Amino acid sequence: MTNGMSRRVELQIGTHQFPRMVEVQAQWSRTDDVRWLIDTEAMQWLFDRVAAGEIDSAQAQEWMRSVTGWESGCCTYCDSAAPSHAEAVRRMDELIARWNREQETVTPESHPYLLNKSRIHAWNCSIVNPIKPDNRLTTLHEYAIELDDWGSIDAMLKRYWENWMTTRRITAANLAARLERRNPNARDPRCKRCSPPLPGAYLSEASDVQSR
Ligand SMILES: [Zn+2]
Ligand SMILES: [Zn+2]
Repeated sequence: MTNGMSRRVELQIGTHQFPRMVEVQAQWSRTDDVRWLIDTEAMQWLFDRVAAGEIDSAQAQEWMRSVTGWESGCCTYCDSAAPSHAEAVRRMDELIARWNREQETVTPESHPYLLNKSRIHAWNCSIVNPIKPDNRLTTLHEYAIELDDWGSIDAMLKRYWENWMTTRRITAANLAARLERRNPNARDPRCKRCSPPLPGAYLSEASDVQSR
């Protein structure tokens, strides 16, 4: 698939001005580099100015370079994401701070279980890697690609939070409530490695059969 971008730019060098806006296009695909297309009439005008000695070729070259490139120096996604980059970085920092604050309230006593997707582990199970959010949006290009995928900073941050929440510490009460809702015929939801004792009515169950 070919992507494209088009913009209109002014062609003015010193006191010399082309009588209308010049259309500049960029086309690219996943496999090809960007191709820049520019109005030939404007180019002819530019060469005529150089030929007449009204501007020098370095000025013509400089103009070409400035209009057939990305303002960000990287890509079109970076160009569109640049204005909101600082806001995204700040909000991501805030989200990480919020996550960390919530983790600080978690202790082995208050939240003895670790839910990883839907598997239940003891809080300190060695096979689960704890979530350590870091701010990858600090690189403009990474942020730009994510913004293009998610459409907005809100959607992006919501997705991050949901991802982090797939591995989270839970209380015994929370786990008991989850167990109440689960299909009694489903497989034992506990990790085989750490196999934590279940809370409440399930405490003494060796299997997942719900009998009281
Ligand atoms: Zn980029
Ligand atoms: Zn485990």
